[in-house]
Amino acid sequence: MAEKLSLFIDGDFVKSDTKNWVEVLNPATQEVLCEVPFATEEEIEKAVASAKQAFLSWRETPPPERSRIMMKYQDLLKVNHDEIAKILSRENGKTFEDAKGDVWRGIEVVEQAANITPLLMGETVENVAKEIDSYSYTQSLGVCLGITPFNFPAMIPLWMFPMAIACGNTFILKPSEQDPMTANKLAELFLEAGGPSNLLQVIHGGKDQVDKLIKHPEIRAISFVGSVAVGQYIYRTGTDHLKRVQSFAGAKNHMVVMPDANKNKTIDSLVGSSIGAAGQRCMAISVAVFVGSSKEWIEDLKNEMQAVNPGPWDSKESGFGPVISPQAKEKIIKLIERGKDEADCLIDGSACEVEGYPKGNWVGTTLFANVKTDSEIYKTEIFGPVLLCIEVDSLEEAIKLINANPFGNGTSIFTASGRSARKFRHEIEVGQVGINVPIPVPLPFFSFTGWKQSFYGDLHAYGKQAVRFYTETKTVTERWFEEDEESTKNLTINLE
Ligand code: NAD
Repeated sequence: MAEKLSLFIDGDFVKSDTKNWVEVLNPATQEVLCEVPFATEEEIEKAVASAKQAFLSWRETPPPERSRIMMKYQDLLKVNHDEIAKILSRENGKTFEDAKGDVWRGIEVVEQAANITPLLMGETVENVAKEIDSYSYTQSLGVCLGITPFNFPAMIPLWMFPMAIACGNTFILKPSEQDPMTANKLAELFLEAGGPSNLLQVIHGGKDQVDKLIKHPEIRAISFVGSVAVGQYIYRTGTDHLKRVQSFAGAKNHMVVMPDANKNKTIDSLVGSSIGAAGQRCMAISVAVFVGSSKEWIEDLKNEMQAVNPGPWDSKESGFGPVISPQAKEKIIKLIERGKDEADCLIDGSACEVEGYPKGNWVGTTLFANVKTDSEIYKTEIFGPVLLCIEVDSLEEAIKLINANPFGNGTSIFTASGRSARKFRHEIEVGQVGINVPIPVPLPFFSFTGWKQSFYGDLHAYGKQAVRFYTETKTVTERWFEEDEESTKNLTINLE
């Protein structure tokens, strides 16, 4: 019998009463790792009520005390780093090195959450009108909700709940049902970090559970990360129910290759950023735009890419892991087949096999050249180890092409020219820009800033701006009178 994964409600790991259990499979073997419960309505109500109750005292807890819990938590995450990465690799399929990066990126956010207090400070302006002073506080919101995707099962939940909780809120996490075990480990360690046991609740499930949560009257703010269609749905439904929503969605990230770039570094970066993690990164480069004579490097790119093969998470030989599910594999293979009619297929990974793992969701390295922007493979987020090459004559043409794409998550340029880099940085309509850096993921003291259809909402959060998302700003306009004073003279604020 496979392990039945628990829900985490009101400070306890509890077995769900649901009749709806779904198997979580190791993507390299189809071994059943556990069964994940799709929580019942009563369980969701209980979790929300517990989070609401916890909020009433947590909001009164001094920020330094909240920080101390985050300090302990980041320490526990570091001590248990490899164990979390192992759970993550088994259920997600990514290589151990990649999984460790996933955990580490999350730890950096917890470090930031531990230092959030200075960012919670309000603002003051003296003399907004004659002898009148104004100031603002940041105050916590209430119960916040996070809905997360399968591809970063540690980092993305850690983008959300530590920030929200450090800002004085309580949190319900609904992790991906495809790799939910990592979330339970994160919750277990959070419980160990001390603090009230019901600050965080973990509700497992899918669409029904999400629907119930995003419409729940007690939920004040929703953070979502996932695909475009679901991201739009969550944004529309959440805002319809008058909630604060930030919704990070899909991507199609381009790298511009200028002829003056360092050829070896460009090719190495293209290989790693396109097929690393089996292309299942929202910041993966999926389109290389070769400007002018740089197109002559496509043959070298092909040779380097051909040498990278998928394999199981615990083998040092594996360049990347399997894709998450047989359904994801099927979708990718269909697109590769379609691409063969639309462009030149230089490497075809559709019939990939890995010795000793006949049931794995393997998709091999795939490379297309002469891709057109009206083709299906260009218009769709493939989310697999597939790189498309497009050739253009000038940087202007490359910028125009990228700006015409509906997504705007990440992009990069490889060049030796400061002038080209500056022009690109200034004119490109994408949230995160790399200059000779293939995957420009910012550290948590910046914000993660997807544009266009990669982000819905107006608060680009997880770093510094997260404070603005997870707090209410209250503006106070103040005037004080002496007891016997009738005029507005001698207004003072006694700060002693
Ligand atoms: P997904 O949209 O299928 O699922 C994300 C979450 O939404 C899961 O928790 C899932 O249970 C829930 N969900 C799924 N269908 C739903 C529905 N119909 N109604 C309500 N909830 C639903 O995404 P995924 O396949 O897990 O993740 C991959 C996607 O996430 C890719 O498109 C990738 O680009 C995107 N992503 C974006 C970012 C970013 O920062 N922009 C980061 C990581 C991943």
